[in-house]
Amino acid sequence: PAAAHTHAFQAEVRQLLHLVTHSLYSNRDIFLRELISNASDACDKLRFQAIDDASLMEGDADLRIRIAVDPEQRTLTISDNGIGLSLEEAVEHLGTIAKSGTREFMQKLGDKQKPDAALIGQFGVGFYSGFMVAERITVESRRAGMTQAEGVRWESDGTGEFTVETITRAKRGTDVILHLRADADDTPHEDKIDKYLRVWTLKDLIGKYSDHISLPIEMRKEKWDAEQSKYVATDEWEQINSAAALWTRSKSEITEEQYLEFYKQLIGDSQPPLRWTHNRVEGRSEYTQLLYIPSKAPMDLWDRQQKAGVKLYVKRVFITDDAESLMPTYLRFVRGVIDSADLPLNVSREMLQESRDVRAIREGSVKRVLSMLEDLAGSEDQAERDKYAAFWAEFGAVLKEGLGEDFSNRERLAKLLRAASTHSEDDAPSVSLADYVARMKEGQKAIYYITAETPKIARSSPQLEIFRKKGIEVLLLTDRVDEWMLGFLNEFDGKPLQSVARGAVDLSDIKGAEDKADEAKDDKEPSADHQALIERFKQALGERVKEVRISKRLVDSPACLVAADDGMSAHLARLLKQAGR
Ligand code: ADP
Ligand code: MG
Repeated sequence: PAAAHTHAFQAEVRQLLHLVTHSLYSNRDIFLRELISNASDACDKLRFQAIDDASLMEGDADLRIRIAVDPEQRTLTISDNGIGLSLEEAVEHLGTIAKSGTREFMQKLGDKQKPDAALIGQFGVGFYSGFMVAERITVESRRAGMTQAEGVRWESDGTGEFTVETITRAKRGTDVILHLRADADDTPHEDKIDKYLRVWTLKDLIGKYSDHISLPIEMRKEKWDAEQSKYVATDEWEQINSAAALWTRSKSEITEEQYLEFYKQLIGDSQPPLRWTHNRVEGRSEYTQLLYIPSKAPMDLWDRQQKAGVKLYVKRVFITDDAESLMPTYLRFVRGVIDSADLPLNVSREMLQESRDVRAIREGSVKRVLSMLEDLAGSEDQAERDKYAAFWAEFGAVLKEGLGEDFSNRERLAKLLRAASTHSEDDAPSVSLADYVARMKEGQKAIYYITAETPKIARSSPQLEIFRKKGIEVLLLTDRVDEWMLGFLNEFDGKPLQSVARGAVDLSDIKGAEDKADEAKDDKEPSADHQALIERFKQALGERVKEVRISKRLVDSPACLVAADDGMSAHLARLLKQAGR
């Protein structure tokens, strides 16, 4: 056999390896995710190339990943029957850093001598992360389509250099053999590298990070050996992951039960979701989204700091469930999965925030969620509209935040608004702005609303009297967020939104109002009697009011308080006072 050749690592790899081997213990687990993901990539590549050349499968088309431990030898082996590596490829791919993510990581570190372990954990460093736990890594591989004599063994202790030699290898694909480091005596129990020799720990990690890899990940079945009184490995393999990345399958292959079951698994919520959307998006950015609208609000809905409900995967490998940049805050109730084909596996929090791909994903996902809601809200089917009403009752107040947060979708959000009104039968928020506008009286220019703590309080306000008398509809806005929202929602369909509790209301242009005579009377200048009365009120109230005037808006009540045109409403003043401002 040919002698082994020694190669020096590229300078950047040396630097990276130095960081990896000298970094702290935190989040070392991710090395397994990285190696499994490489194995999965290798199978994907083979599957893709075999489309043109079926002989590459060599009669073995059942692609899978196997993980084996040898406690005596202290080795952990990750095997795949994917595309494999030629000798040249091993030198090239395992001796240099090609991927942009890792480069970026190196740049971010700059001259920092002491790397931040958390940073390494966040990025992941691909193949080289194996050196976090291994004192030596041996890779044995044969590229699909090459002869058995053209196998390769690559080996390194993760310092300055690696060796490669040609070997004979019957199997196509790759074994990555980690020779695990010995733990120092003072290593805390939970940080011991030994744990990666324990089958149940590995199963646990696979479940956590790689369950949705769509290939089977197998480990040897164990059986109890009474003599040794411990579990020992058998020759049989069993599948550890569910290998069912539901979202990667096409919609037509997925049953409703499967969607529901997946939701349950994802959320741990026993209530079925209200609605879901599943799409594969191609184009500028390539990704798959499977997004659910729950039927019930979670306990922490009002905590704007809570983790986003959408999990990010990159090519079926779980990355994070804490990516707020994937969904705007006002859609924090949405649950589901986004699987990107473009992002690097080792994407960091910072990169997520800056990435153009992520921005495209977010915009696309917002549009999907909004159209899901529009479909419900505008459905011909009463049952669907009832679902929207149920949605609004749970999440309407959250969606309203969007009017202030998401200017590009303000119009769509405004159409989704629902409120109770003086024209609705009960206090349920069921009137849309479009309903309101359609019912506006001839000559009516503004959309009138009143804010109050409850619909009941709103309805009993003296400020409403003239509107009720004239049959003009007023929206009753009773969510805490409404005052804030109204700061952003000034108009709808070209009609200004106007508070009935603010400034002077002029209803004189509105046709069809009864009591013309009354109005004419009110239009006169205050009589001398009235003038005297106003003076007395002013004296009695002093500084507490800005102005006292004769009003046209009262019908039954003798007096009411209104806010100045530019002042804050009484309701907002109360809210702020409650909040201690
Ligand atoms: P990345 O996976 O992002 O490309 P890695 O550092 O994880 O970066 O891997 C570097 C390269 O090594 C891969 O791109 C691939 O070419 C090669 N490689 C790693 N593991 C395998 C494997 N199991 N089979 C075939 N090639 C592999
Ligand atoms: Mg990789």
